Amino acid sequence: MGKVTGFKEFERQDEAYTPVKDRVKHYKEFTVPLSDSEITKQGSRCMDCGIPFCHSGCPLGNLIPDFNHMVHQGEWQKASWILHSTNNFPEFTGRLCPAPCEQSCVLGIIEDPVSIENIEKNIVERAFKEGWIKPQPPKTRTGKTIAIVGSGPAGLAAAQQLNRAGHTVTVFERDDEIGGLLRYGIPNFKLEKEIIDRRIAILEAEGITFKVNVNVGVNYDVKALKDFDAVVLCGGATERRSLPTPGIDADGVVQAMDFLTQQTKVVFGKEVKDQVLATDKDVIVIGGGDTGSDCIGTSNRQGAKSVTNFEIMPKPPGHRSPTTPWPFWPLQLKTSSSHQEGVERNWLINTKEFITDANGKLTALKTVNVEWKMVPGERPQLIEIEGTEKTWPCDLALLALGFTGPESTLADQLGIEKDARSNYKAEYGKYQTNIPNIFTAGDMRRGQSLIVWAISEGREAARQVDIYLMGKSDLPSKNMSGDLVPL
Ligand SMILES: Cc1cc2nc3c(=O)[nH]c(=O)nc-3n(C[C@H](O)[C@H](O)[C@H](O)COP(=O)(O)OP(=O)(O)OC[C@H]3O[C@@H](n4cnc5c(N)ncnc54)[C@H](O)[C@@H]3O)c2cc1C
Ligand code: SF4
Repeated sequence: MGKVTGFKEFERQDEAYTPVKDRVKHYKEFTVPLSDSEITKQGSRCMDCGIPFCHSGCPLGNLIPDFNHMVHQGEWQKASWILHSTNNFPEFTGRLCPAPCEQSCVLGIIEDPVSIENIEKNIVERAFKEGWIKPQPPKTRTGKTIAIVGSGPAGLAAAQQLNRAGHTVTVFERDDEIGGLLRYGIPNFKLEKEIIDRRIAILEAEGITFKVNVNVGVNYDVKALKDFDAVVLCGGATERRSLPTPGIDADGVVQAMDFLTQQTKVVFGKEVKDQVLATDKDVIVIGGGDTGSDCIGTSNRQGAKSVTNFEIMPKPPGHRSPTTPWPFWPLQLKTSSSHQEGVERNWLINTKEFITDANGKLTALKTVNVEWKMVPGERPQLIEIEGTEKTWPCDLALLALGFTGPESTLADQLGIEKDARSNYKAEYGKYQTNIPNIFTAGDMRRGQSLIVWAISEGREAARQVDIYLMGKSDLPSKNMSGDLVPL
């Protein structure tokens, strides 16, 4: 424990943001880092409590009090070693994780929790700056070959772990760049893409082969996967949700992922034909989650005339709801940096129609206010409130409704079983599909989720692949039940 009275002496400090008027003019990150001495103080707020609930709050099982202690001691290199022992890519989680660990921090019961996520970011950035993060190629090779399909955080974590175990790893990615949703989903102003490139350079130097523009099952025959001793499918959950609403095909109703991907490509000088732009438009973003928030930030940067957000669920409470007590993830209103940049947020509202002109161009949205009827033992029922119909001028509607599950191409061609939610079926802790040498991890296995879960699943799946190939594994595990049992 860094300082016995640290949590009494120091208040939580978070990174500031540059002013809205400046940051909406560009697509770069806009956080203002805290000084090293301030981060050291923040580390000392950790109470090193008897049972650190943050360990189980973090899906990676990050050793949070241990790295907090090292930061407070000024032992940054040791902090980096501890952090990397459970997390392959803290530079992603340190920027983008919703930090369930902080919601289960014991200090959070009476005070603001320890700023764990920001400490994590500072440790890894310091480590890169000092040159402590170096390629660690394996000393010997096993002669076993592994194909990883998909280069999101799950595929990258699995690749790094399996390569470290001495296997020869090839990662196939259908996009023109590595990174999955880190690359083309999450906007550059939340994660500058150089941060991904910096890590990929390390993975390449460790001996991992990356093949882009390879769409397995489309321009690469799945039969060729038979040349590998094992395969890990990490293709994400990319099947986009739509609405069964009249006018959905109107010119001006656009999937959020198309809008976001195009903008990131343009930032990097790639050719995008007929880019969808929010410039001078009345934009309505349908969907109140992270993707919706990213669309709001991007629309404001493109110079939208107005930005409005619709969410069909009720407005969450401003503070932790009693239905989600500590240490659980709270049901609570989230206001992101993109929301702060300008948006009118509406809850309990449903889109009834996309209205078009004679040329099929979107001109307005017709909505109705709704309420949810809760009957114990039954599914919540959506009730429209009579007399609340409203028409909203709109020339760009962005559908940020999430994903229904993974695409079925690979499952169909390889004969992989799916679960009731259409995810690729593999038991948690085992990651093995019905085909013994094919494993799956990340959003493809668990459905739309988080980066931290993708990294965790990639790591754990790697260990299971290693056990499958070698009969045992020295790769680390969170020791979830079932993990240690050879398959
Ligand atoms: C807009 C947006 C914002 C988000 N923001 C956050 C956030 O702030 N914090 C957070 O924690 N999470 C966030 N998420 C969720 C997070 O990005 C995902 O949970 C995470 O990326 C899942 O990782 P993955 O590796 O399982 O899959 P993905 O990142 O989806 O990667 C899958 C990869 O597989 C490739 N692929 C698929 N099929 C094939 C094939 N047949 N052949 C070759 N390649 C294939 C795809 O092209 C893709 O690159 C966000 C998601 C979106 C859409
Ligand atoms: S990865 Fe996320 S949950 Fe885990 S310690 Fe970091 S911020 Fe917390």
